[in-house]
Amino acid sequence: MPRRDPNRVWELVHGYQALASRFPQFTLTEIGVVERFGLRFPVLAGSVGDGPRSAIILAGTHGDEIAGPLALRQFWEDAATHAMLARCRILFLPLINPVGYARGIRGNGNVDLNRHFERPTAQPENEIVLDFLRRERAELLVSLHEDVSAHCFYMYESGVRERALFSQIIADDVALLDAIESQGYAVCAGNQVDGNYNRNGLVVSNPGSVRASRSGALEPTLLRHGVIRRVVGFETPGRLPLSDRIQQQLVALRHVLESFLV
Ligand SMILES: [Zn+2]
Repeated sequence: MPRRDPNRVWELVHGYQALASRFPQFTLTEIGVVERFGLRFPVLAGSVGDGPRSAIILAGTHGDEIAGPLALRQFWEDAATHAMLARCRILFLPLINPVGYARGIRGNGNVDLNRHFERPTAQPENEIVLDFLRRERAELLVSLHEDVSAHCFYMYESGVRERALFSQIIADDVALLDAIESQGYAVCAGNQVDGNYNRNGLVVSNPGSVRASRSGALEPTLLRHGVIRRVVGFETPGRLPLSDRIQQQLVALRHVLESFLV
């Protein structure tokens, strides 16, 4: 069991506050507070860029999947990211589950948040996130996850219904997976992921399926309610060193945003 360490959360929070004070175009808002097990943390939302396209990035839904939040924090330091911001507006939730992150556990202590987005036993974290996403609509949502038991990378694509757009998006996803492989990393091929077929690292899931609607996961919930049109999820392999997982998240995030903005 990992040690409880509230400083892990505060390092991220203070890192974002420093970023916001360095870049005037970087807006940081506290959209809620989570209090549990004697821990009390803000839930932050950020907004940056003023281009015509809009994307939302989510990190830290599962507290033990730390590469996503850490990669996203690094992402903003990159000059290439800043060059992209003339073309789009990026909203982001850097750490949805701060208590889980502080304790190094998947859930918030009681439940897996990503199974309870459509349940009556709603969790405060989920209410904060859903309120924010209902207010701030975007074309694309990118969700940063890890598969703690995997040795290889894979990704999800869901929500795209237009046929012409779909083939281009699949081609972009294949190029993203090639970019991961070209850095010497393995991509998971041919396994089943939560009942969906994984083809060479790409899991195309149907948000309208009975399985998806029962899962209580955020992505099908947003797609079904029309809050978002396309959701991409990354799963970096938890068995690899953290620096490699962060690198994979960065490669994937940059790739999906660049292809989205073409
Ligand atoms: Zn996850």
